[in-house]
Amino acid sequence: MKQLYCSIFGHDYHISKEVTYHLKEYACKHCKEQVTTNGSGKLTLLTPKHKEINAVLERIHSNRLKRKALILDR
Ligand SMILES: [Zn+2]
Repeated sequence: MKQLYCSIFGHDYHISKEVTYHLKEYACKHCKEQVTTNGSGKLTLLTPKHKEINAVLERIHSNRLKRKALILDR
């Protein structure tokens, strides 16, 4: 039934995870389908491959934030 709702009204995505400033993961409120923003800024299905890439990007991103904080500390 939930999928039927989505096929009529479209998915109702909300941000499930903010990977970087520009890269986010979304989940549909109704059918729990997960999507992510790809290189060209469009939404694409969140496959295990994407999850892997996002996890790497997230690590790089948080390391950068940490480094920036260290520089500001001095
Ligand atoms: Zn949906």
